[in-house]
Amino acid sequence: MTDKPDDGAILDALEHARSLSAPGTGVTKLYERVKANHPQWQLSDKRFRKLAAKSNREAEESPANGHASSSKRTIDTSAVPVSKIDPKVVASSSVFDAIKIRQIDPIKGKGIVAARDLPDETQLLHDTAYVFAAGAAIAQKVQRGQACAFCGKLVDALARLAVSCQEHPTYGKSSKAVTFEACKLRYCDRVCSSKSRHEFGQLICPALNDNYRTLLAYSDSRQTSVPLAVFKLLAKTFVAYQRSEQEGRDEAKRVEAFAGISQRVLCERQSGRKATEDHLIPMLKESHVLTVRALHFSVESQASEAEIKPDEIHWKTKFPASVLQLLSFDSFLLYTGKVNLNREDDGGVYALHSSLNHSCHPNASVRRVALRGSTNDAKPSKVYIITRRPIKAGEEITLTYCSPHLSLEQRREYLYNHYLFECWCERCVAEMEDRRENGIKVAQPTGFEPPINGETHQASGDHADGDLADEIKAALQIA
Ligand SMILES: [Zn+2]
Ligand SMILES: [Zn+2]
Ligand SMILES: [Zn+2]
Repeated sequence: MTDKPDDGAILDALEHARSLSAPGTGVTKLYERVKANHPQWQLSDKRFRKLAAKSNREAEESPANGHASSSKRTIDTSAVPVSKIDPKVVASSSVFDAIKIRQIDPIKGKGIVAARDLPDETQLLHDTAYVFAAGAAIAQKVQRGQACAFCGKLVDALARLAVSCQEHPTYGKSSKAVTFEACKLRYCDRVCSSKSRHEFGQLICPALNDNYRTLLAYSDSRQTSVPLAVFKLLAKTFVAYQRSEQEGRDEAKRVEAFAGISQRVLCERQSGRKATEDHLIPMLKESHVLTVRALHFSVESQASEAEIKPDEIHWKTKFPASVLQLLSFDSFLLYTGKVNLNREDDGGVYALHSSLNHSCHPNASVRRVALRGSTNDAKPSKVYIITRRPIKAGEEITLTYCSPHLSLEQRREYLYNHYLFECWCERCVAEMEDRRENGIKVAQPTGFEPPINGETHQASGDHADGDLADEIKAALQIA
């Protein structure tokens, strides 16, 4: 029996063969391996080569790979953020039998599909934030000891399991003059407390880290938790690095797998080049310096390429240049872009949840409470993905990245400006078709530039890949 695999299945198999081969293994060898692993596949050498070349091009151009080299070319010209498949996320997704992570196509990157036919109101997965940086309301409660400093859950004053910040041996006995006033952090239980300690060490104790307090105040005044999420992504990597080089590298790789693009590109798209250079970049530089200092590194104020040195009292580890590079301004811009592209409303960045692509007519939605759970068990740092209509096996599972109440033009403009892709989902295409039939012209997103080399900017959306999007455009007579 033979079958005809779709592009996603071939890319999965290619990825798998690559992971088992020596770096630089040629495409002929990889083709042989894929054929050997899938003897029933009808797969021509030509089709395989075409897909392999496309996926190579994507890997080279992907800004997700760009931060280590922070090549200006990569960051400035490649306007399509592409996420990669993180093997750890794939492993964690395997506990959910309703879903599979798949490479959807080279343009959309990874996505999640239904493993079988699913009815409406099915809980597909739950995901705990990779890092959680709560919005203002919860953040203030965290500083007052009224919400868990790790997961954001409200801590009842009388809760028996709640524990105080473990960084102080006991109040008053510490060699550092720590006062009750300075640190009121509390955790809902020992699990949250020890996870927090493992991931961030002493970095998030405001009593032991003045610079973190400054960063908190800054985020508060700007009413954004983005710098705090960036701080936590970096803190997690550096603390892991201190445990062992391997753990540090693993952590950095996990961050790399999140779709990313320089915040500079996002700012330019949303506010124009002049406003970006005149106002936004100076603001980001300020936030960069505060973040680096809160991580216990010294940095020259306002110097983007300044030498960055670890504070040796806190960091006993010698960090190689490749790791210190994560603290450069370019890397900071990339991390800020990653947070903006991937975070959920509440300020969490989720590995599995961020693998879900967009549709303006989504078949799933995010909830805070488990399908048959109680609000009492809910933690702000945890999300549940629930189907909102029946889904067929193999169908991609989608969420909406914008309000579905917006008009066609507003949605497409918003997605183009904030997520850098043109939406060609079923709903957008149907609505465009409708307008065309009624003789109404559909405006392209403001600042829309014709794509280079005929490639489209779609990173997410429906099943259309570049060629298909072009076909749809041609059919709809849109330039
Ligand atoms: Zn907690
Ligand atoms: Zn503390
Ligand atoms: Zn759409």
